[in-house]
Amino acid sequence: MDPSRSEPSGQSTAGPAAWRREFPALDAPVHGRRLAYLDSASTALKPRAVIDAVVRVFTHQAGNVHRGVHALSEAATEAYDAARDDIARFLGGRPDEVVLTSGTTGALNLVAHSWGRAHVGPGDAVIATALEHHSNLVPWQALCAERGATLRIAPIDDRGRIDLEALAGLLDDRVRLVAVSQLSNVVGTIAPVAEIAALAHAAGAIVVVDGAQAVAHLAVDVAALGCDFYAFSGHKLFAPPGTGVLWGRRALLEAMPAWQTGGEMVASVDYARARLREPPHRFEAGTPNIAGVIGLGAAIRYLATLDRAAIARHEARLHARLREALAGEDRVRVLGAPEAAVVAFTVAGAHPHDVATIVDREGVAIRSGHHCAEPLHHRLGADASARASLALYNDDADIDALIAALARVREVLR
Ligand code: PLP
Repeated sequence: MDPSRSEPSGQSTAGPAAWRREFPALDAPVHGRRLAYLDSASTALKPRAVIDAVVRVFTHQAGNVHRGVHALSEAATEAYDAARDDIARFLGGRPDEVVLTSGTTGALNLVAHSWGRAHVGPGDAVIATALEHHSNLVPWQALCAERGATLRIAPIDDRGRIDLEALAGLLDDRVRLVAVSQLSNVVGTIAPVAEIAALAHAAGAIVVVDGAQAVAHLAVDVAALGCDFYAFSGHKLFAPPGTGVLWGRRALLEAMPAWQTGGEMVASVDYARARLREPPHRFEAGTPNIAGVIGLGAAIRYLATLDRAAIARHEARLHARLREALAGEDRVRVLGAPEAAVVAFTVAGAHPHDVATIVDREGVAIRSGHHCAEPLHHRLGADASARASLALYNDDADIDALIAALARVREVLR
């Protein structure tokens, strides 16, 4: 048996304290304090199972994939191919619908450059919601500019919810594609993806879902969502950075031209031309992030050993506490009405970077800035915000630490 397939050592499904023990980054104090890591929406910490899998690649599976007949290459290939199977199972899709990319950004650019250039022409339209991360906005802006198409923005309300009626009003027979994030990385609202997909399909458009934030928190089943493409990043799902996934409906992938070309994506080549391989390999030119992908498979298998319903309950309780605690703080304004995982906020009289810097000195890691969602911040009447985000390893002490650190912010900035 491939050793990378072994279960996480010493893991327990018992609950938050046991989940926390699997993440060694939490063991090291920061500025002499217990670390309250509240920045998992930016990148999640890695469990021992993932760290061990990556170390194993470089010690026992150090060959290239799909290119050698020697033992190390075969060991790497076996573990790498198995990761694709794990990812497919995780999403409820088939392995031949899973394209391995460098991240959500890579996956969305692949759709824009390949499917987009082939299907979006002059006079056509693309819809993105007002919630989108730059990764799910700028590729569509660029595509529309290049193809003479128009980008339409589906509005949101002040709570950060997509206005479905307004979105339906934007859909007509010129719209080729609707882009939506399943879980907002700023306002933490959950999009009604299945409803959006039904509306879009009725108008003849396809639906691209940015699952970067959703994968670590919500159950993802691409069939139930009814989407056509689903993109996510490994590093937000407890796996190494530089890995990502584009799931696509098989029929769409088969009809898509290559975007990047080179080794491994070709069936045969002569000096004049190349015959391309079938998807997903057609979209995977060059040596991939072997250790990262094997680490992503390990992350998914690690999650499969846990009670995900218990994790969802734990995160929902913490999220409610975080939201209420922040909303009750003097001079704090929470952006929108967050439903899961993240809470973005401003502190009157303090720049978010100053807030994040001061709380860091207290051992609390949060994000500050516009979180790659500049238009959304402007829509919500803010230039930037601080953002606390949760994962299974957080606990009440982390929230207490943030609230205590915010008192320190007010003291320093008084
Ligand atoms: N989409 C959303 C909603 C995100 O939160 C992020 C990252 O923060 C991305 C896309 C981009 O992900 P990556 O930088 O891993 O490609």
